[in-house]
Amino acid sequence: MEEKRDFRDLEREVIEKGKCALCGGCVATCRLLDYEYLSVDFSEERPVIREGQQCPPDCGYCYYQCPRVEKPALREGFEEMYEVVSTDEEIRSACQDGGAVTSLLAYALDNAIVEGCITVADKGEWRPEVRVAMDKAGLIKGAGSKYTPAATLTGIADAILKYDLWSVALVGTPCGMSSYEKMLVVGRGTHNAHNFSSHIRLKIGLFCLGSYSYEKLMKGYLEQKQGIDIGDVTKLQISEDVLHVYAGGKELLSVGIDEIEDYKRDGCKVCEDFTGLFSDISVGNNGTPEGKSSVIVRTDFGREVFEGALERGYIEAKPIDKSGVDLIHRLMKKKKEAGIAEKERRKKKLMEPQKK
Ligand code: SF4
Ligand code: SF4
Ligand code: SF4
Repeated sequence: MEEKRDFRDLEREVIEKGKCALCGGCVATCRLLDYEYLSVDFSEERPVIREGQQCPPDCGYCYYQCPRVEKPALREGFEEMYEVVSTDEEIRSACQDGGAVTSLLAYALDNAIVEGCITVADKGEWRPEVRVAMDKAGLIKGAGSKYTPAATLTGIADAILKYDLWSVALVGTPCGMSSYEKMLVVGRGTHNAHNFSSHIRLKIGLFCLGSYSYEKLMKGYLEQKQGIDIGDVTKLQISEDVLHVYAGGKELLSVGIDEIEDYKRDGCKVCEDFTGLFSDISVGNNGTPEGKSSVIVRTDFGREVFEGALERGYIEAKPIDKSGVDLIHRLMKKKKEAGIAEKERRKKKLMEPQKK
């Protein structure tokens, strides 16, 4: 019989190998969650066990939950692409691009499809914080990409255990979507994953080319190297391989993402999913003009929500132009190939004879 793995194996095989996506799935499904046994150390950007503690001998929920130990299998779905804009002026002016994510969530909340939405807000100086939004104001606080890791899946535990919600929307990067899929597939036999997986109703994945170390990008690069006061920044946006930093209407910096490549998290360099293949609906800004969102509907339930939001006037939509569709497909392919190449590179490096 195969020996049961536990957190030490997760550390050895994933975290210390630079593969951790910091999705937070292991923390949310830890058997000793109630004792806050496993948590995310944001200064080190990794999951850690509380000092001096040892896992129970028969456990290993965290290991089997991790999407970087083994990827979940992709289920049959489809891919309908739309150019979308929110019809709500307040949402449009507060959001990145067309405000599609916020408007879809607003529709889901207003129509009792979900009771709360797990989003990531800025807790000051662009430090990401997972929150459960239950109204439009909360959704607007969570609007826009933060580009540094938030361990979004820890919000599932908050939504269910702290807020007692039964029906929740999960918004996050593709790694969070695949981690949640793992919770559904593998986690059925574990008590937290089993409980949590029945409460997530809607999954919205955000296009992602990478997430960056907070200390390196925000403090080291933007603050120290570029002399930007992070407190002044009102919007960060990566589009067409360029990072744009804004304060109000003023652009403070525009720089190619090659320049910040060194600050990308190691776990992102092996990532193959650009759009969030495990979500009901994926949203991003590539493939559509400025001020519009690109939306990919992937499941029947995603279509139901999308069409509901359209019919009730929360959003306006039209099919994405062919050039936009081609661009999204090119970026999907490019990210997949880059992730596979990096894995190969790491494997080869391991095989190289050690120099004395
Ligand atoms: S899930 Fe089990 S093995 Fe993993 S950290 Fe929690 S107690 Fe330890
Ligand atoms: S990838 Fe997610 S589940 Fe795996 S170790 Fe990192 S935070 Fe935990
Ligand atoms: S690049 Fe991949 S691992 Fe990194 S944040 Fe995006 S989806 Fe997650």
